[in-house]
Amino acid sequence: MLTELLKQAVEQRRDELIALTQELIRVPTINPPGDCYLDLCQRLGDRLESRGFMVELVRAEGALADSAAHPRWNLVARFQGQEPGDCLHFNSHHDVVETGHGWTKDPFGGELKDGRIYGRGACDMKGGLAASVIAAEALIATVEDSGQAFRGSIEISATADEESGGYGGVAYLAEQGYFSPDRVQHVIIPEPLNKDRICLGHRGVWWAEIETKGRIAHGSMPFLGTCAVRHMGAVLAEIETHLLPLLASKSTAMPVVPESAKQSTLNINSIHGGEAEPEEGYTGFPSPCVPDRCRIIIDRRFLIEESLEEVKAEISALMERVRVQRPDFEYEIKPLHEVQPSMTPQDAPVVEAVADAIQQVMGLEPAFVVSPGTYDQKHIDRIGKLKNCIAYGPGILELAHQPDEWVGVDDMVQSAQVMAIAAAQLLGLDPEPPSSL
Ligand SMILES: [Zn+2]
Repeated sequence: MLTELLKQAVEQRRDELIALTQELIRVPTINPPGDCYLDLCQRLGDRLESRGFMVELVRAEGALADSAAHPRWNLVARFQGQEPGDCLHFNSHHDVVETGHGWTKDPFGGELKDGRIYGRGACDMKGGLAASVIAAEALIATVEDSGQAFRGSIEISATADEESGGYGGVAYLAEQGYFSPDRVQHVIIPEPLNKDRICLGHRGVWWAEIETKGRIAHGSMPFLGTCAVRHMGAVLAEIETHLLPLLASKSTAMPVVPESAKQSTLNINSIHGGEAEPEEGYTGFPSPCVPDRCRIIIDRRFLIEESLEEVKAEISALMERVRVQRPDFEYEIKPLHEVQPSMTPQDAPVVEAVADAIQQVMGLEPAFVVSPGTYDQKHIDRIGKLKNCIAYGPGILELAHQPDEWVGVDDMVQSAQVMAIAAAQLLGLDPEPPSSL
């Protein structure tokens, strides 16, 4: 049976999977600023080309953060079968976040110890990228050995800048048509969502800057000015007493994890009021002034049941309530960034194929989840207009961006088996190839 052959073919490549993960971790593709992107794309491109893939290196010319010093390079590799059919695309981001403090391992050493590979990006998501490469290679070789013609095509991409919004990566490729439904029919993003969970999408995002305005005056006579910080205090009190309880009362049909993210949330990302403070701290005293402006940045995450218009209207209404209570209250709301929520239906072909494969490899029912934060699925959905997309990959979500980040070798092997079996099903390959009888 093809399923058994695929499981074996992946298992036989265990050492190769470890070596590839280590090789990818050792290229420090830190973002920002966006280091070593070309190096990583070339290494992986050379490997895939030698295994029969057509390889393209695509620079996101002119995209956000693309520069001569830090060009935004992407890799798109395609294996075209002999017979026409669907295309399954595995998309992984190749950038990693800064290392931060607290490491006991070399963040770019790729050390293997007790079945775990350590390093920045091991979990998020070079382990997932390596697993998808091994899955594709195992599938192609197994089909070839069975004498069956390969139907359809497999694409593997390694893309830039997911950690900073994906504009020099998947968004750019989607704009260029790489994710249009006539070219690609199924997408799996091997983000670290745990090997037995299928991530259907994510909540929506609205970021905005809210500024309260006052009037500067001498600090010894504050009654002659208008204090923008006190205005903001009233805004924060309104958020605390009215908005946060309202958001907590909203519930969703989206299976968001963790449980506490199954409601609308609002984070106050930063607050700045009054005179700008010198970076090194004051050498003397600050001057006595009534602050004439105060700004906060809010990060509002919303549910598929809410509309962006509603989310914006809630904030406008809140600001108007404060205005009625306070003489001289002036404010401005500046929208910064928005992402619509996305959720692939549970009966989409890619969801069903991966769910079946998890059942066959691990003998358990997968959990369907939705991510509290966004990832590149937003661009595939909104720009590419492709709905048949999920995130599925090895690695434990909570380890992402942490010191001593690691990915488990057994988890990678199992999820690569799941990917290979799901791919065979989606591409319509014969489950009982002649040579396996
Ligand atoms: Zn990631």
